[in-house]
Amino acid sequence: MKRAAAIAFVVLASVSCGATEPVASSAPTTPGSPAPSPAPSSVPPSTATTPASPRTPSPTRTGPPAFSAKVTKISRDRLPYSWRPGCPVPYQDLRLVTMTYWGFDDKPHTGELVVRDTVTDDVVTVFRKLYDWRWPIRQMKLVDAYKADDYASIDADNTSAFNCRRATGSSSWSKHSYGQAIDLNPLENPYVTADGGTAHKNAKKYASRPMSGKGVINAGDKVVKAFANVGWEWGGYWSGTKDYQHFSKGGG
Ligand SMILES: [Zn+2]
Repeated sequence: MKRAAAIAFVVLASVSCGATEPVASSAPTTPGSPAPSPAPSSVPPSTATTPASPRTPSPTRTGPPAFSAKVTKISRDRLPYSWRPGCPVPYQDLRLVTMTYWGFDDKPHTGELVVRDTVTDDVVTVFRKLYDWRWPIRQMKLVDAYKADDYASIDADNTSAFNCRRATGSSSWSKHSYGQAIDLNPLENPYVTADGGTAHKNAKKYASRPMSGKGVINAGDKVVKAFANVGWEWGGYWSGTKDYQHFSKGGG
């Protein structure tokens, strides 16, 4: 504890001047313990009391926080619309992944995704990369925020995963019903029918590929590769209908 306090003081003293001398005097190094790591220890304690030194921002202190992700069980009441008895996966097998993402506003945010327990490592691996690349995501809320209405969630450009529903234009369960599919920036990456049709406002201008743009996914780009590296396939590779927002474990 004392050693930690001493290190904390050194760091503080090097970047934030003033008002810390009481900490310094009460934080001796524990005898016999290993020397503190070679922090900016050349700064003598007295420097801390000098108010005139200008702040020297360092990237690690002033930059965005590092990516973080937390995986927890999810309670039934978090899924009032997206899950119901009869769904192919019990909600006990789903997990809530709370993690940082990089926003369209060039700022870090915290979002939530619900996925099956078997794929949480895949998801965290990919979203860590997206964040480190500052690859922008509009927003990331549970689809229950839209009463599990896929259309409304897409209209809000919401990135989401689990939703117990039928596949578009089909009577079989969507891969989203298994918590093994993610729709990423769905307005910039629309679902496009074979004849070029789209269902959402503003989607038409995003219907062709390749194209550049914020949060747009293209064949073979780093986003597609990041998912492919964990065994997730991209709906942009489908023949006929293209689902540019859609990634799923093992395809489908
Ligand atoms: Zn999808």
